Amino acid sequence: MRTAASDLELVRPDSLEEALCALAADPALRPIAGATDLFVEANAGALRGRRFLDLWPLRELARIEANGDMLSIGALATFARIARAELVRARLPLLAEAARQIGGLQIQNRATLGGNIANASPAADSLPVLMVAEAAVVLQSARGERRLPIASFISGYRQTALADGEIIAAIEIPLLPEGAQRFRKVGARAAQAISKVVMAALVGPVPRVAVGSVAPVPLRLRRTEAVLAAGGSLAEARQALQEEISPIDDLRSTAAYRLRVAQNLLESFFAGG
Ligand SMILES: Cc1cc2nc3c(=O)[nH]c(=O)nc-3n(C[C@H](O)[C@H](O)[C@H](O)COP(=O)(O)OP(=O)(O)OC[C@H]3O[C@@H](n4cnc5c(N)ncnc54)[C@H](O)[C@@H]3O)c2cc1C
Repeated sequence: MRTAASDLELVRPDSLEEALCALAADPALRPIAGATDLFVEANAGALRGRRFLDLWPLRELARIEANGDMLSIGALATFARIARAELVRARLPLLAEAARQIGGLQIQNRATLGGNIANASPAADSLPVLMVAEAAVVLQSARGERRLPIASFISGYRQTALADGEIIAAIEIPLLPEGAQRFRKVGARAAQAISKVVMAALVGPVPRVAVGSVAPVPLRLRRTEAVLAAGGSLAEARQALQEEISPIDDLRSTAAYRLRVAQNLLESFFAGG
């Protein structure tokens, strides 16, 4: 293990075991993956923590593989690799689509799926996808391993259920039921834009819908899904969606625009389906 001493301290473990031991000894160590969110914090003069644990060299955390029906994506997999991975494109095309639309190419080369989840932004583009896919977050610490459904892992506005000494090791995604997978993000431009609204859906006999940027946390829209599953009209589904979300006005958009866009995306996904 190499440690660089300066104003900021970086611990670079050579293995996952070393990383977990270092975290157990010092839970204040803050994990770093691609550092795309961390640099934004640093530039804003709001960097949390002085001591960091660099996960980037741990290639065992970057694997993308199938274990039977389960797709497993290591937390350190970048969006560039996720967008290209044959397994992801075949099994979960809506995640490959979301990965292609995150930031621009430079960001995709560094930004990781684990970092996007841990950052827990209401606008994080991967989160509605993982909610529709009913993914589980695999957490590891020196104490062992546990799994949490993605919806329970995101516990509040920019908050997660990550415990002291834990890192996100992987994301596990079961096979999705039959249906067309849809993803759409609406931002100010095609690239380098934080979502004003982001929606993922499974359009099939068991409809699933999740949406980001319209509430403090990304949401699975269970009541809207129930209306669609029962053969309700698109007007009824639009109404159910309105009752489930709580968009706000902020520097990126207005509550009224977000509501209208979310309703229009829902309708475009499910029209005729
Ligand atoms: C210009 C720009 C454009 C962007 N565009 C988008 C976009 O379009 N869509 C979008 O969703 N996001 C976007 N982002 C945000 C960011 O790139 C993503 O959230 C990214 O996935 C974060 O991953 P990272 O590896 O860089 O995380 P880091 O910056 O390394 O870490 C982020 C947070 O997660 C924690 N963390 C990281 N990995 C782990 C782990 N394995 N276990 C536990 N904690 C961990 C860190 O401690 C930190 O709190 C953008 C950022 C920038 C700067």
